[in-house]
Amino acid sequence: MSGISFSYTPYTLNLKHQFTVSSYSRATTPIVLTEVYFDGFTGYGEASMPPYLGESHASVSAFLSKVRLSQFKDPTQLELILDYIDKIEPENTAAKASLDIALHDLAGKLQNKALHEYFGLNPAGSPQTCITIGIDTPEIMALKVKEAEGFGRIKVKLGTEDDKSIIKNIRQITGLPLMVDVNQGWRDKQFALDMCYWLEEQGVLMLEQPLPKNQKDDLAWLSRQSPIPIFADEGIKRLEDLKVLYGVYNGVNVKLMKSTGLHEAKAMLDFAREKGMLTMIGCMTETSCAVLAAAHLSPLCNFADLDGSFLITNNPFNPLSFKEGRIAIPGSPGIGVIKV
Ligand code: MG
Repeated sequence: MSGISFSYTPYTLNLKHQFTVSSYSRATTPIVLTEVYFDGFTGYGEASMPPYLGESHASVSAFLSKVRLSQFKDPTQLELILDYIDKIEPENTAAKASLDIALHDLAGKLQNKALHEYFGLNPAGSPQTCITIGIDTPEIMALKVKEAEGFGRIKVKLGTEDDKSIIKNIRQITGLPLMVDVNQGWRDKQFALDMCYWLEEQGVLMLEQPLPKNQKDDLAWLSRQSPIPIFADEGIKRLEDLKVLYGVYNGVNVKLMKSTGLHEAKAMLDFAREKGMLTMIGCMTETSCAVLAAAHLSPLCNFADLDGSFLITNNPFNPLSFKEGRIAIPGSPGIGVIKV
C-alpha cells in the first residue's frame, strides 16, 4: 500500500471589516490550505497566519516542503506522525496545525467517525460562541453588532485610551453578555483590577490577556483578586506553557494555530480542566474548515470564540450554520466541511 501524500496552496482571506486591536490593524489574513490524501480519501486542513504570530505564506510553505508523509503507511497512527512533524522545527505552530487538522479529518473519514466522536465528546455540551467586534468608530461598531445577530455573546477588544466609552457605546446597542479581550493593552495591575469590577457591572463574563504576558506576578495577583475570570491567550501557546503557567491565570484560550492543532489542543483542555482552570476554544481569521475542527473540541470548554469564518468574504468551504448561538456540529465523518 502506498503512503500518505499531501498538497498545500497559499490563499488570502479578505475580511468583511478592517480588524483593529490594541496593537495593529489589517484587512486580510494569509492562510495556507492543505489536503492530505490516502486510499481515495481527502482530509482538509489549514494554517492561518495573523502577522503577530510571525508566520507567513513563505514560512509555512518552507516548513511544509520539509515534511515527508509518504514514509507513513497508516494515517490513523496520528501520534507517531504528529510527533515527527513537531520535531522538524521548533516553531511553525500554524504550519504544523495545517497538517494536524487535515490528518484528523482524514482519520475521521477513514474510521467513519465525526471528529467529536473520535475524541469521545458529545456536541450537546458545547457552549455558545461569541463574535468579536474590533475597535472602530461608534457607527461601524453599531453596524457590526447588528451583523452579529444569531450570536449569543459579543467579544469586545479593549486596550485603548477610552475603554469605558467603547463598552458604554456597545451597551446602548445590545444587552447581550460580553467577553473582553485587552490583547496585553493595559500596564498597571491596580488599573486592571478597577476595570474588572467596572466591567463586571457592565455584564462582562470574562477578561482575556489584560496585561502583557511577561507581567506574570501582576497577572497572578489580578487572577486572585478579580471578580471575573482572567484568561490567557498570548501568554499560553502550547501544553508546555500551560504546565508552567496554570497558576497565573483562571482560564486559558486554546487555539489550534497556537497549539499545533487538535491533538495538543485536546491535551491542553484536558490538563486545564484537571487543574481546575476554566477553558475556552478560540480561533484566528480562518475558513470554516479550521473553525469547525475547533468546534468539535468545544464540549470541553466553558467559552467558545469561533467566529473566524464569519468575518471573511471568500471562504472556500461551505459556511457554518448556527443554532441558538452555537455552531451546528455535523455528525458526518471527519470535520464535516465541503469544498465549494
Ligand atoms: Mg485574544
